[in-house]
Amino acid sequence: MEKIQMTTPLVEMDGDEMTRILWKMIKDELLLPYIDLKTEYYDLGLEYRNETNDQVTVDSAEATKKYGVAVKCATITPNAARMTEYNLKEMWKSPNGTIRAMLDGTVFRAPIIVKGIEPCVKNWVKPITLARHAYGDVYKNTEIKVDKPGKAELVFTAEDGTEIRELIHEFKAGGILQGIHNTDKSITSFAHACFKYALDTKQDLWFATKDTISKKYDHNFKDIFQEIFDSEYAEQFKAAGIEYFYTLIDDAVARVMKAKGGFIWACKNYDGDVMSDMVSSAFGSLAMMTSVLVSPTGVYEYEAAHGTVQRHYYKHLKGEETSTNSVATIFAWTGALRKRGELDNNADLVAFADKLEKATLKTIEDGKMTKDLALITSLENVTVLNSENFIKAIRDTFETL
Ligand code: NAP
Ligand code: MG
Repeated sequence: MEKIQMTTPLVEMDGDEMTRILWKMIKDELLLPYIDLKTEYYDLGLEYRNETNDQVTVDSAEATKKYGVAVKCATITPNAARMTEYNLKEMWKSPNGTIRAMLDGTVFRAPIIVKGIEPCVKNWVKPITLARHAYGDVYKNTEIKVDKPGKAELVFTAEDGTEIRELIHEFKAGGILQGIHNTDKSITSFAHACFKYALDTKQDLWFATKDTISKKYDHNFKDIFQEIFDSEYAEQFKAAGIEYFYTLIDDAVARVMKAKGGFIWACKNYDGDVMSDMVSSAFGSLAMMTSVLVSPTGVYEYEAAHGTVQRHYYKHLKGEETSTNSVATIFAWTGALRKRGELDNNADLVAFADKLEKATLKTIEDGKMTKDLALITSLENVTVLNSENFIKAIRDTFETL
């Protein structure tokens, strides 16, 4: 069989620990035999990030802006323990944070649905994709704890010297205070990324805030979304047969529980933090969640939602067998290859991505899976495979399709 040709390279961001091991296996077994794989390779493994003073992360984000599509392996975000373990010059920042800031992107997280791994919520028959605004609010707060009577005020001093002053509270005794902010620019980027991704995946978009209580702050989110929708996306949504739907956050939560899925749920930063954990755990497994970073200009970076699976890596280093689930990492590759194929009008590449996803799901549905899935599946008499044999089983299934 002739290998599929690519015209534009994918930006390939390698990573750390167990996912780095899976990364190579996936390429060797599932990609390189079938595709004349063109990538621009960036090693975001912690050692090389340290060696380059993290320049490699910046370079990989620049390359993503240039080419438009990237695929990323999970990476270590250094903490004190990693400083010693890897003898780091500095506690380098989270690569995901750096890349997200450089692309001004929004992260969309979606579960991979497969027969035999049923969500706890029975009526969720299609995936719910969660979009979390990743800037500001309580994540960039300023807090004060007061321990005596006094007056708290919110003051804005403009560059021109004018001032806006609002009373927050007259404290009679001790209490707490918090200042938060967001910017129109960031909310606008978030809105564009959401509308673009909804069109891209042909799914309805839901957005919710607490604008009845927060009449300026949350209302500003609602207004910006609505203005951008009306002026730039309404017609495209109509043509695509999808809708944009705004409601109150409590109403959204209630509706989500009764919904069938198949939509994107855009959330403010805190709502997204909390709800993404609820949605992903209800869908079954972190190892079955994909994640894609979308910039407001339409640049895409695909990855698995889970981390480097450190505990499995240490077993691997001791020569013990591991059964690490590679599905989300495989879907990061197929997502990126499909997007590359769409942008380059490369139908073969798109078809390959579809077929590899189908083979991956069929392998699980045929009862061959890793340990994490075997523990939660409703299928009987399943075969638990180790990391490598699971990938090989997917290849066998692929050959039969
Ligand atoms: P993790 O790598 O997601 O793993 C947590 C646990 O979840 C594992 O120990 C394992 O449970 C289970 N798990 C996750 N993915 C799995 C898979 N593919 N197959 C089977 N089981 C899986 O999170 P972590 O251990 O907290 O973090 C490890 C490193 O990853 C950290 O250095 C962190 O900074 C980094 N991280 C990176 C990203 C990213 O790059 N996007 C995201 C999160 C964390 P059992 O041990 O019970 O089998
Ligand atoms: Mg959280």
